Amino acid sequence: MENTVFSKPVPVVPVRGSVVFPHTDSLLSFGRPKSIAAVDAAYQDDRIIAIFTQREANQPDPSLSDLHPIGTLVVITQMMTTDGEIHAMVRGQHRVRLTETLSEEPYLVARVEELTEDHFDDTEVEAMSNRLVDLFRKAVNLGKSVEITTIMRILSQHTDVVELVDSVAAVLEIKTEEKQLLLEELSVKKRLEKVLEFTTHEVSVLELERTISVKTQKRFDDQMKKSILRERKHAIEQELGENDDDEDDVSEYKSKIRKAKMPKAVFDKAMKEYKRLSNMSPHNPETGYIRNYLDWLCDMPWSVITPTKVSVEKAGQVLDHDHYGLGKAKERILEFLSVMKLKEDLHAKDAKKHEDMGAHPTILCFVGPPGVGKTSIGKSIAKAIGREFQRVSLGGIRDEAELRGHRRTYVGALPGRILQGIKNAGTRNPVFMLDEIDKLGMDYRGDPSAALLEILDPEQNKEFSDHYLEVPFDLSQVMFICTANVLDTIPGPLRDRLEIIRFAGYIEEEKFHIAQKYLWPKQVKVNGLNQKNISISDEALRDVVKNYTREAGVRELERIIATICRKVAREVAANPKLKIKVAVTDLQKYLGPRKFSSQILGKSDEVGMSTGLAVTSVGGELLFVEVALMPGSGKLTLTGQLGSVMKESAKAAFTWTRAHAEELGVDKNFLKTIDVHVHVPEGATPKDGPSAGVALTTALVSAVTGIPVKRDVGMTGEVTLRGRVLEIGGVKEKVVAAHRAGLKTILLPKDNEKDMEDVPENVKKDIQFKFYDNVVDVLETALTRDPFAGVAKKKSGKPSFVTAA
Ligand code: ADP
Repeated sequence: MENTVFSKPVPVVPVRGSVVFPHTDSLLSFGRPKSIAAVDAAYQDDRIIAIFTQREANQPDPSLSDLHPIGTLVVITQMMTTDGEIHAMVRGQHRVRLTETLSEEPYLVARVEELTEDHFDDTEVEAMSNRLVDLFRKAVNLGKSVEITTIMRILSQHTDVVELVDSVAAVLEIKTEEKQLLLEELSVKKRLEKVLEFTTHEVSVLELERTISVKTQKRFDDQMKKSILRERKHAIEQELGENDDDEDDVSEYKSKIRKAKMPKAVFDKAMKEYKRLSNMSPHNPETGYIRNYLDWLCDMPWSVITPTKVSVEKAGQVLDHDHYGLGKAKERILEFLSVMKLKEDLHAKDAKKHEDMGAHPTILCFVGPPGVGKTSIGKSIAKAIGREFQRVSLGGIRDEAELRGHRRTYVGALPGRILQGIKNAGTRNPVFMLDEIDKLGMDYRGDPSAALLEILDPEQNKEFSDHYLEVPFDLSQVMFICTANVLDTIPGPLRDRLEIIRFAGYIEEEKFHIAQKYLWPKQVKVNGLNQKNISISDEALRDVVKNYTREAGVRELERIIATICRKVAREVAANPKLKIKVAVTDLQKYLGPRKFSSQILGKSDEVGMSTGLAVTSVGGELLFVEVALMPGSGKLTLTGQLGSVMKESAKAAFTWTRAHAEELGVDKNFLKTIDVHVHVPEGATPKDGPSAGVALTTALVSAVTGIPVKRDVGMTGEVTLRGRVLEIGGVKEKVVAAHRAGLKTILLPKDNEKDMEDVPENVKKDIQFKFYDNVVDVLETALTRDPFAGVAKKKSGKPSFVTAA
């Protein structure tokens, strides 16, 4: 890059705490004698000066070496003098670098070179600059303060990219050093990227501020509004001569408190608060807080109980009516209800015994990927036993106060989510679903899982204390049901309380039936259609299941069916006589091209690539393992989505392969001359675990022997250093995912044979299962040729040594 020297000596003016950019107008004030002299001199001459930012803002009289080496050449467009200060409007021209010091007295003079910027427009730059304009507009709308002329220049369509980036950079709320770095960046594209990053950050901060201020403002407005209205009401009533009904208003609480049928201790507390309220001037702002508190106390269902009569037979019918399949889950739920019923019957006979046993000592917990019907089966349970249903999501809760409420001294305090749910239910024995307990957080604000333990413990929840309510509430009659996507993030003590029921996900056939019997009729109705206007062929529905969704549950499927119904509803609205039967050929029209193709079909067997099976938070998934060899020195590189346990598995696989090189017919020295790269691409992030061992070993052995892996063979299992294949978890989820992807053979650890009873019959028909306890046997099946064939040393399949790697 050629930089042309700006030949004339230029007066240099240092600035502190800001950076002047080319293409921007800035108003600068100078007070230091040297600066005033420099600006004055330039203004008499060609009005050009060079502005450089000081490295240290507190340096009173900087010399040229105290300045950043890159600055901006500017033209002074206007100047004004007030007592002792000069104010100059300057317009930035170019980036310049100091090259030679000419004099330091009476003001700084230097020779500078103009820097050429590295810039060419491409579509990426164009896209990024459009994005920058959008973000800038958003920032301004969110209240970023910028001069109107600058806003207009930046938002005008014709601004050149270089000018745009510098103009935005000049108004960013960032540190001076960061601005200086932006000035020094000569690649426009890189500068654009950084400015975009800063602007994005600024927008998110502004958004956050806006949300916070809207919330506080609202709270404040509400309080304000109430007190103004009360004041007005008071004035009107005085005019009408009915001025003492504030008292009535207050005394209403007395009857409300009586009606709420509170326990004695709560009643006393409520009366005490009531007395405080009645002795207070109505203008005292604290009355608002007391009223709010009394409202909560009176609205809690202290003595409201929905009478339940559990009939297990009826419950079975309701569950079957509302849900397809899920046989095992339903069975476990019915068992649970039977136990509950027995206890209730016992209770009817002998209340004391019941107390000893606790109401429902275990809590049901439904574990499975999203959309498999956990919530909806919870609702069915409530329906089956005739109770109210409430649901609260605990995902992302880090603060214990979310569960237990804030103390009343806290502005805008409310009870926690548990008691809010109970109030909404209006009874103290609802079915209460606590969603996403695997996503509870924990930090310095207290551990919400400890509070949850108390909530779920029938010994303790009889007297559940909420910080806001201050008086205990009896939760022992509530039937809590928890849900989670995965088990391993649930804290141990909490897990011990739970009776886990797994929902592994549906296979294609089940999804088809769910869609046909439940989702389709439901969406037809929701969208204002009926069976006469619209129908869908079985083939089309199967096509939707297979080619437009790839998920363990049916949530996306339901959304897609809703899309079809909405589009048909529009056609029907235009022509009410229309009768539409959706066929396979119409899907393209309603839904666009197919979204998914098989992950396996049509792909060939490859060297160094195996198909593993994993469990993620959205259910089972295929996990492709890739291994590549490069010239090197026997090193192992791991990239992609490998957690720490999976990395250990990869290292173990590497050790095993090296130890068995000879048996595999691979020259030991060959392995010293290559580096091995293991990569796990694509797909949702798997839960970290050792179960990828078999897939890792297979891909590695395939890479070093050059024998391809059969693409339609899925495998899972932990491998020890000695090559033993150990039991793993999540068999059903993995098998369901393999079935969805069209795998034909699945290799599993021998110890997992017992899990086969959970695998649906339909899957067993389509997939061949093979069980192994040694990785040597796995390799013989998974690779297209036996890697040990032809090697005399091949032993019984159980090699007896491990050499140090
Ligand atoms: P989750 O709580 O597991 O995320 P939902 O209960 O919200 O899933 O289920 C999503 C949708 O799928 C709901 O409309 C539900 O009724 C439907 N659904 C899921 N499984 C079944 C099933 N086995 N039979 C009928 N409908 C089902």
